[in-house]
Amino acid sequence: MATATVAVGTMKAAQIAKPGAGFQIVEREIPTPGAGQVRIKVHACGVCHSDVLVVEGGWPGVQYPRIPGHEVVGIIDEVGTGVSAWKKGQRVGVGWQGGQDNTCLQCRRGDFANCRNVKVTGVNYDGGYQQYMVAPVEALAAVPESLSDAEAAPLLCAGITTFNALRHGGAMPPDLVAVQGIGGLGHLGVQFANKSGYKVAAIGRGAENAALAKKLGAHVYIDSQATKPAEELQKLGGAKVILATAPSSKAMSELIDGLGPNGKLMVIGAGPDAIEVTPIQLIVGSKSIQGWWSGIPTDSEDTLHFCELTGVRPMIETYPLEKAAEAYERMLSGKAQFRVVLTM
Ligand SMILES: [Zn+2]
Ligand SMILES: [Zn+2]
Repeated sequence: MATATVAVGTMKAAQIAKPGAGFQIVEREIPTPGAGQVRIKVHACGVCHSDVLVVEGGWPGVQYPRIPGHEVVGIIDEVGTGVSAWKKGQRVGVGWQGGQDNTCLQCRRGDFANCRNVKVTGVNYDGGYQQYMVAPVEALAAVPESLSDAEAAPLLCAGITTFNALRHGGAMPPDLVAVQGIGGLGHLGVQFANKSGYKVAAIGRGAENAALAKKLGAHVYIDSQATKPAEELQKLGGAKVILATAPSSKAMSELIDGLGPNGKLMVIGAGPDAIEVTPIQLIVGSKSIQGWWSGIPTDSEDTLHFCELTGVRPMIETYPLEKAAEAYERMLSGKAQFRVVLTM
């Protein structure tokens, strides 16, 4: 619910005027949905590390001022012309993939996630750090009633990315799956891997994370400060999939020898440095490294349904929209347990 008082026809938004300028709480006109769009009364929006691409700049072609936010949950309160499949009052979410052009070769092949002109929510158009946002119908995912707004929000980016990478990694239950990093992505990855029926090895830094990792569903905890994780994984037979969530390319490089035959390193944590690997490391045992880009709205719906069925939930800290700057700093600090969510 909105806590701020605003004039009729206007709303509060947390915008970035230009890269590096930080968050400003501004009053804006409530936007009107165009053809093929809906307006969403936003209830919650997750704060994701990728928001840095707007806050500090770095994503090509972003126009400012820009309102970030790509883990959005709310209620459709207006529909534009030509919208028939979505109704006012329907509960929806919008994630990282904010739309496709429907005309490029990848779209014609039905591979919308790899659209050549993909639109990213809160990057190419205004996202969820506001009381109302407009989104194209291609970006909408239906959100089940059993999930709360604040719990559903991080599932639209952190959730879908870990879930989708894991289910496309090639492991079959009860194969050994390792999750590197017990953070915003990893704490979900461990839960998804457990509920998918894999044997789960969680790799974290320090003994203090063991209890939490096991509570989340890890069968084995590997302390990367006390042991060599690749050796520990080999003692268990080698991992079929290693879900690399922590943005440390060095740590990822050191994990490759922990893969078993036909094993795959699924990369979703984005660090700036190179992952180092020799050809022979990949050739012996036919191993591979693959990156994974979140997914499309139906993948979000699958993620939400999986969570509904299995009880997987993100651990969250909530802040009101007016404290967007504080929430963002908390996310950047790496100390949040584990996803920060703005509520409206
Ligand atoms: Zn994200
Ligand atoms: Zn396309």
